Amino acid sequence: MIVALSKDISPREKAAALTYLKDNGFSVREQELAGDVLLIASGGTTGAPNGAFSERELALLPGVARVASTSKPYQLAARETRGADTIVSVGGAPSGSVVKIGGARICVIAGPCAVESREQIAETAARVRESGAVVLRGGAYKPRTSPYAFQGLGMKGLEYMKAAGDAQGMPIVTEVVSPELADGMKDLTDIFQIGARNMQNFELLKRVGSFGKPVLLKRGASATIEEWLLAAEYLLAAGTKDVMLCERGIRTFETYTRNTLDISAIPVLKRLTHLPVIVDPSHAVGIRDMVPSASLAAVAAGADGLTVEVHPTPDKALSDGPQSLYPEQFERLMRDIEALSPVVGKELLRLPRREAGRPDAKDGAEKDKGASVQLQTEKAAFCGENGAYSGQALDRAFGEDAPRIGLPSFAAVFDAVLDGSAAFGIVPVENSLTGTIHENYDLFTRYPDVAIAGELKLRIVHCLIAAKGASLETIKTVRSHSQGFAQCREFLDKHPNWRFETWNNTAAAVHSLASGTDGNPDLSIAAIASESAANLYGLSLLKTGIETNPQNYTRFVIIARRGSGETAHRTAGFGKAGWTSGEPDKASLVFSIKDEPGSLYPCLQILNTHGLSMTKLESRPILGQPWNYMFYVDISTGDSSKLNAALGELENQTESLHFLGMYRAAV
Ligand code: PEP
Ligand code: MN
Repeated sequence: MIVALSKDISPREKAAALTYLKDNGFSVREQELAGDVLLIASGGTTGAPNGAFSERELALLPGVARVASTSKPYQLAARETRGADTIVSVGGAPSGSVVKIGGARICVIAGPCAVESREQIAETAARVRESGAVVLRGGAYKPRTSPYAFQGLGMKGLEYMKAAGDAQGMPIVTEVVSPELADGMKDLTDIFQIGARNMQNFELLKRVGSFGKPVLLKRGASATIEEWLLAAEYLLAAGTKDVMLCERGIRTFETYTRNTLDISAIPVLKRLTHLPVIVDPSHAVGIRDMVPSASLAAVAAGADGLTVEVHPTPDKALSDGPQSLYPEQFERLMRDIEALSPVVGKELLRLPRREAGRPDAKDGAEKDKGASVQLQTEKAAFCGENGAYSGQALDRAFGEDAPRIGLPSFAAVFDAVLDGSAAFGIVPVENSLTGTIHENYDLFTRYPDVAIAGELKLRIVHCLIAAKGASLETIKTVRSHSQGFAQCREFLDKHPNWRFETWNNTAAAVHSLASGTDGNPDLSIAAIASESAANLYGLSLLKTGIETNPQNYTRFVIIARRGSGETAHRTAGFGKAGWTSGEPDKASLVFSIKDEPGSLYPCLQILNTHGLSMTKLESRPILGQPWNYMFYVDISTGDSSKLNAALGELENQTESLHFLGMYRAAV
């Protein structure tokens, strides 16, 4: 059993919790994990039919945040131990980018099997970074099956790789093969890789875990998932909180491929553990031309990232040439991953783009540091509470640890941006199933000092959520936001007797279930919201994916006070976590026209004359003025002088004109 303590627990409350456990026969070990203090309790009277111990009583003790029981032999690695997925942060110091692995991102690690020379690793690093890899891999100590095969360049190789990583602003990962070597490597590598052959080298796990640095733990070629998680437990128990599991193929009776990629291990791990899952398609299949398919399959199955072998001249590689991709193949694969990621609700993580003509990484890295400092000190506002889709969009735009304020309405988000209590806000403007969210366009016209600074698209997967023990048969009432109902219309139509209650946001609807009545869950009420909202409140999923069409995306815009934040932060590269940074290439306007024939045409003519192409044109009646119309226009352009010239002319042609902002379009 795991007892997570509140951050503000007093020594007295902690002593009371410990006494309660010990009086009930538990032996208790204290452990810190990702900033949480956990009491790991074993033995005791749990489950004894007449025992006085009550898990509920324990959970209600002051200072106890959460109690989780797990019957698994691993505890720190168990999903139940943490409410959220582990997000591993790597790199950052002294001159590199911080890369976050886990959550709604796909991170790609790439590089050669082995470091062969200073030039080879430098060239590979530049090529893979250009294509979108965020971490550089390469072996300095190679565990080879034959003692006569190339064994790696050792420390020299690691130094070459560190220099190549620094030059590109990329963190590096390299394999450590013995506890004796680990100490000497720890200041050079950002991530330690424990190879398949060493997965159960327990002395190595203990030593490497004690450094507290991130570790990529490969699965042994014949290890079960449980053995693998127990190896991860060694690392966590030794002191690191940042463990990533890497599936790299297992040995089966099949010999066509080098190993057999265990795709099903990905969803299994997602259920069993909070740790990120990385897939190594190169060692799994061992055949270059099959690496892309295996990579895409891994992303589709829910992997948080990939580690892929790439070599500038694979035919001359000193190890694993036949499975190493040509840089061009890797480039193509990255494009496919980028296209696939939104389908699984994720986004391909990219390092900030470096300016052309400035190949020196220092510039980029210094800029990043500035941007991430701002991230920590500025709040972003969203409508709703934890578990809301807007909160997920905020995670994507600014990172999970970005300071935030959840507010009761979209207008309150605009207010917060205007009065400076938030530097940014995030609001939905359009859904692919239900169309434009007019309320937010109207807010732009009411708040002329608020502008659009960026946008992102989030895939929305709705679930029917209820307390444990409920079923489709017990449900009588469903709570959600009106958009939740609208997007799940077909599913709801199959249950004509259900009553619907509209809530301010989907997460609030889920939260209301968690409280129940008098502590007893009400099995007749369900809510429509995200899976993460259900997990947050410990509720069950009665049905997932109930949206009418799986192609259900919501477009969110990031808003800022006009003339202050939006331009300054955009140019600083703020928001590299998912809010597409880079030069603006899109602009949005809202205008209304005179109620007379032919008054729209000259407006469109102005855009045409200035060579501005529209990507959206939508009309809607103006509130309180029947048969007068407002037009929403998106323009694809990066040319602000053309845009300004067109705006000047539109000013004379329209009744009212609101320029919402120029920003970088989401992919
Ligand atoms: C490697 O990644 O270079 C490697 C040797 O992989 P594995 O330990 O999975 O065989
Ligand atoms: Mn290899």
